[in-house]
Amino acid sequence: MIIRSLSVRNFRNIASADFIFDPKVNIFTGNNAQGKTNLCEAISVCFGKSFRNPKVSELLPFGTSDKETAIEMCFFFDNMNEKENVIQYTQKNSSFRLKFNGIEMKDAEKLYGALRYVLFIPEDLYIVKGDPSKRRDYIDFVSNMINRVHNYRLYEYNKALKQKNNILMNMSVYDTNAGIMLESWNETIAKLGVNVMCGRIKYFDMLSAAANEYYGQINGGNETLTMQYESSVMGERSFTADDFEIMYDIYMKRLRETADRELRMKYTVVGAHRDDVSFFINDMPAKDFASQGQIRSIAVALKLAEARMIKEKSDDVPIIILDDVLSELDEYRRGFIINHIDNFQVFITSCNLADTDKFGSGKIWNVHGGSFEVTEG
Ligand code: ATP
Ligand code: MG
Repeated sequence: MIIRSLSVRNFRNIASADFIFDPKVNIFTGNNAQGKTNLCEAISVCFGKSFRNPKVSELLPFGTSDKETAIEMCFFFDNMNEKENVIQYTQKNSSFRLKFNGIEMKDAEKLYGALRYVLFIPEDLYIVKGDPSKRRDYIDFVSNMINRVHNYRLYEYNKALKQKNNILMNMSVYDTNAGIMLESWNETIAKLGVNVMCGRIKYFDMLSAAANEYYGQINGGNETLTMQYESSVMGERSFTADDFEIMYDIYMKRLRETADRELRMKYTVVGAHRDDVSFFINDMPAKDFASQGQIRSIAVALKLAEARMIKEKSDDVPIIILDDVLSELDEYRRGFIINHIDNFQVFITSCNLADTDKFGSGKIWNVHGGSFEVTEG
C-alpha cells in the first residue's frame, strides 16, 4: 500500500498537521521530544491499534479533555491503485471510532490483518540482545503474521503447559505415580509443542534468508548474518515443518528424560517454550560479540525481511515505519536505509539532520513542537 496523505488533529502534542507523502521515502527530523514518534503512532492508530498500547484518553493533548482527536489517512492498495481508500479515526471522551471507506469498523484490530505495516522501534533491539522470550515472541509474531492459526496453537500449548505445571507444583519428588500421571499430559504437550515448533520453523528459513540478504546490503557485503533456531527438544538435530512424527517421538523422549528434573524444579524444563534463536555475524554469536551498530543492523534486517515476507506471502505490500533507526549507524548503513529500501514506502524518523546528507529523493519534514514543516519534495 501507499499512503498518499494524512491529516492529524489533536493527537498528543500534534495540534494540527497535514501531509502529502512521497510514495517512497519520507523523513522526519527534529530534536528529542518534538513529535516524531507521535506521528508514527498516529499512523499506527489508523492501522487499528497504537504500537504504544496507551489508554484511549492518553492520546488527547494534555489538558484538552473536551477536544476531539481526528486522524484521516488516504491510501492506495497496490493491486488496485486507481481507487483511493480512507481511514478515519475519531476520538472523544475516551471512546473512539474507526471508519474504513465510511463504514464503521466494530473490531478495529481486525484492520491490522487487512492493512499491514512493519515497524522498527528502539525496543526491537531487544530481539537481538534481550532474553530468549523476546526472540520467541518475535518468531511467533512473524509466524502468526503469515499464518493466523499460529497464535491459536501457541495459546493451546501454553494452556496445557500451565495445567501440567500446576500439577507439578502439587507433586512430590517421592510420588511413585508421578510418571504415569504425567504421561498423558506429556502426550498432549508434545503434540501441541510440535505444532508450535513446526509453525515457527515453517517461515524461519524464509525470514533468515531474507534477513541475511538485507544484512549484507546494509553493511556493504562485508559481513554475513546467519540465524539458527535453537530447540530445547531437538538439540543439534536439524528439522523441518514436515518432521512432525519424528519430532513428537523425540519430544516425548526428552520429557521422560527430564521428568526427575521437572519434579524437582516444579515446571516443565524442555519444550517449545524454552526454544531460542541465535544470530551470528561472520559465524560469531551476535549476543556476545556484536557492536551496537551491528545489533541495530540485525534488527533492521529482520524488519525488512518481515516486510518482504508479508509481500511475498500475501497480497499486501506493507509500509515500513522506522522510528529512530539511524542513530549508531555509520554513513554507509544510514545511506542504505535512507536511499535503498526499494519496493516499499518508508517513514523514517531521526534526531540528526546529518542523516539526510546523502538523501537521494523523497520528502523531508522538520519537526518542532508538534509542527511539521516540509523542506524538500
Ligand atoms: P525522541 O527523538 O526523543 O524520540 P520524539 O520527537 O519522537 O522524540 P515524541 O515521543 O513524539 O518525541 O513526543 C513528543 C512530545 O509529546 C513529548 O514531549 C511528550 O511528552 C509529548 N506528549 C506525549 N503525549 C502527549 C499528550 N497526550 N499530549 C501532549 N503532549 C504529549
Ligand atoms: Mg521518538
